[in-house]
Amino acid sequence: MIGAVDIGGTKIAAGIVDADGRVLRGSQVPTNAQAGYRRAIESVVRMLRSAEKDTGQRITGIGVGSTGPVYPLTGEIGDVNFFPNWRGENPVKDLTDAFRVGVAIENDADAAALGEAGWGTGRNKTRLVYVTVGTGIGAGLIFDGKVYRGVDYSHPEIGHHLIDPSGPSCYCGFNGCWESLATGPAMEAWMAANILADDAHREKLTAEKICDLSRAGDAVARQTVEREARYLGLGLANLVTLYVPDAIVLGGSVMKSADLFLPTIHERIAASCRFVPYERTEVSLASLGDDANLIGAARVWYHRFARNGDSHGD
Ligand SMILES: [Zn+2]
Repeated sequence: MIGAVDIGGTKIAAGIVDADGRVLRGSQVPTNAQAGYRRAIESVVRMLRSAEKDTGQRITGIGVGSTGPVYPLTGEIGDVNFFPNWRGENPVKDLTDAFRVGVAIENDADAAALGEAGWGTGRNKTRLVYVTVGTGIGAGLIFDGKVYRGVDYSHPEIGHHLIDPSGPSCYCGFNGCWESLATGPAMEAWMAANILADDAHREKLTAEKICDLSRAGDAVARQTVEREARYLGLGLANLVTLYVPDAIVLGGSVMKSADLFLPTIHERIAASCRFVPYERTEVSLASLGDDANLIGAARVWYHRFARNGDSHGD
């Protein structure tokens, strides 16, 4: 029974995941970063203890997925946009002290990638690229069951690879990186800039609403969706060219409307990747649903501590 913790910019979830990747009990609290790290970690301990009590199970290890950067080797939180005052705090150490079990942390995109690779649609894939598209774009690379890392266990920032240098500016300092062009907020910004000032749809545009409008035949919404599909396709084609994975697994809130984007994504990949066997890369949708983050967090523990990362390892 693995304790799973997902630390995000707006909420923190924690629960217990069994050896088959099922969430037995989970709960969540708002992150409330300003209230401080100490309060957040106390909430995590409380949620895990109450999950133990509710299920009558004992946690034998804990996996954490967190918005990054985090340092998996030391367990420390880095310079995270959402909680600037938490830098240097160490959830691995604090949870180890509280529960006396093995604890491991990874960037949340790597955690979700491990979840899909272990218990989801990426099962049995040797080379897996997981991409989540929502308010940001995150990606995790899993090769032979292991997270691909840069130097110092760093997490490559695929969401910030450059697509169009003349594109909009991004908080990372670049112009036209993938995240500035192909997220939900990027769709909202583009549509807002391209509809008439008195258009009734102007208020409260969301990616989901834009997709609904597109399905209903709204011309600008259709253009917005087509633009989104084109930029998603360009970024994914780059990943196919660079890594030629067995599978690309797509998750995140924007991908709930994947049917609108997939035809153009496939066209883009076919048009851009002629020097690699792109047709062998399977593009599929994440399969772990709303519990994906907790399931991925549990998988972080297996990845670090179980033999061969096997869910039934000792
Ligand atoms: Zn960027």
